Amino acid sequence: MSDNTTHFGFQKVNESEKARKVAEVFDSVASRYDLMNDLMSAGLHRLWKAFTIAQSGVREGSRVLDIAGGTGDLSLAFAKKVGKSGQVVLTDINNAMLSRGRDRLLDKGYPVPATQCNAEFIPFKDDTFDCVTVAFGLRNMTHKDHALAEMRRVLKPGGRLLVLEFSHVWKPLAPLYDFYSFNVIPKVGQLVTQDAASYQYLAESIRMHPDQETLKGIMESVGLEKVEYFNLSLGIVALHRGYKF
Ligand code: SAM
Repeated sequence: MSDNTTHFGFQKVNESEKARKVAEVFDSVASRYDLMNDLMSAGLHRLWKAFTIAQSGVREGSRVLDIAGGTGDLSLAFAKKVGKSGQVVLTDINNAMLSRGRDRLLDKGYPVPATQCNAEFIPFKDDTFDCVTVAFGLRNMTHKDHALAEMRRVLKPGGRLLVLEFSHVWKPLAPLYDFYSFNVIPKVGQLVTQDAASYQYLAESIRMHPDQETLKGIMESVGLEKVEYFNLSLGIVALHRGYKF
């Protein structure tokens, strides 16, 4: 958007306000976040994440950075793959989400380092990681291009970035999907978290997120190469993958 405004769902807000409003959403939902993911997606988010891991090329010894990692689903799966010779770093801008993720991994026997940071300013050196992932986080970021450029910067040459995000659904399914998103999800959010507004934001932010081709173009514009995407569940979600050479 031009001037200093951006979108927070369907609202136009000042850029400086967006991060605070996003923080309020995740502070509010953190304790029920995992349950809500299973309820809203009927467990499908587990398959989308499993597909992401399968496309990651991560293996024993890899160094992986999980951006906006929240409660740590991807970090946990990667920690199991990289073994003692590799490393996974869980990051998130939100302390409530990050603490849950860190504690959950610790409870399962994977004490991965957890770093609170904004994806637009990643506190790691250039050329550090074999793989960087961001699952359902990019949509919430104010300057998506800055964040993607930062993710590319910390990749080693030959490394890959995986972006798992809600996307633009196959057109014939759109009316049903809209009904579900705007009528069912906020009600479930109200029942489970007493917070319908955060789940209304979820539905709105998905509609405002760039479609598959646009996001591919943004990734290319920050220097990622061989960018491709996979539509999952008829485009409800897309996994984009790009490389740094
Ligand atoms: N990756 C996890 C998953 O797939 O279950 C959590 C996704 S959750 C929907 C989105 C996460 O993005 C939240 O934990 C939120 O705090 C984080 N986030 C939002 N804006 C961010 C930013 N600018 N930098 C880093 N994390 C951010």
